[in-house]
Amino acid sequence: SQVPPIILNNGVEMPQLGFGVWQVPDDEAETAVAAALEAGYRSIDTAAIYGNEAGTGKAIAASGIAREELFVTTKLWNSDQGYDATLQAFDVSLAKLGLEYVDLYLIHWPMPSKGRYVDTYKAFEKLHADGRIRAIGVSNFLTDHLQRLITETSVIPAVNQIELHPHLQQHAARGFHAEQGIATEAWSPLGQGRGLLEVPAIVAIAQKHNRTPAQIVLRWHLQLGNVVIPKSVTPSRIRENIDVFDFSLDTEDLAAISALNEDRRLGPDPAVFEMA
Ligand code: NAD
Repeated sequence: SQVPPIILNNGVEMPQLGFGVWQVPDDEAETAVAAALEAGYRSIDTAAIYGNEAGTGKAIAASGIAREELFVTTKLWNSDQGYDATLQAFDVSLAKLGLEYVDLYLIHWPMPSKGRYVDTYKAFEKLHADGRIRAIGVSNFLTDHLQRLITETSVIPAVNQIELHPHLQQHAARGFHAEQGIATEAWSPLGQGRGLLEVPAIVAIAQKHNRTPAQIVLRWHLQLGNVVIPKSVTPSRIRENIDVFDFSLDTEDLAAISALNEDRRLGPDPAVFEMA
């Protein structure tokens, strides 16, 4: 594959760019994931709550691509937190995906006031020890949640998948992750395509490189070291979003994009989000 890997803190290789399938209905996921695999993506990011693990699994099975060439991520939903519930939910996800293991399993949200993410993570550690997950991690964890996991459990999370794009650059979180050896994975890397791709500074850099604004934003992430999982169901955009490994932004371009930070979330605040 044309996508270079990053090495996670347990030695597992993860493609730095993958395909996200949030909001893709199950019956469209098979087509969208098939288009992504055809375009060269080898990493797919789904979640139990997305309701499209089955469609994703069908596309994987139909592709004929060797399992070890793929990197499949899914996530444990909030209502399944707790040790026993996690073990059961993992079996359900694996069956829907039609797989014998996943490459990365994430706690979708911390729900700190419920106080269950440590027990949940201990179930992740068991599944990891049993060889059913190659790397375990979290999503939407704030620094104090990560700190608690690191203190109370044995496996440092391989990944924290957080909202991250030029309008929400997450400097403090990225710094903490780097100190702890946790990879930063950016969700909504394109800012959900809402407004960010029309920002004049980004459009100007796109014109300069004869690229699209989406490609410029993805390059910015990659050059910072973030893992990215852009989503699209449009085959031409699916191809465009992976066609970002034959050019580079210069320091001036990077600085212009880094100046766009507004610390502005599109999604929920992890400190309080508890949708079940
Ligand atoms: P994104 O930033 O990837 O933006 C996707 C949208 O941008 C598309 O729907 C389309 O409207 C537009 N777009 C995509 N490619 C384009 C292109 N080349 N040109 C113009 N417009 C383009 O947003 P996302 O889907 O929210 O995030 C990506 C993935 O991150 C999700 O699919 C999911 O896998 C993951 N995610 C995780 C969480 C979490 O809580 N862990 C939350 C949100 C998303």
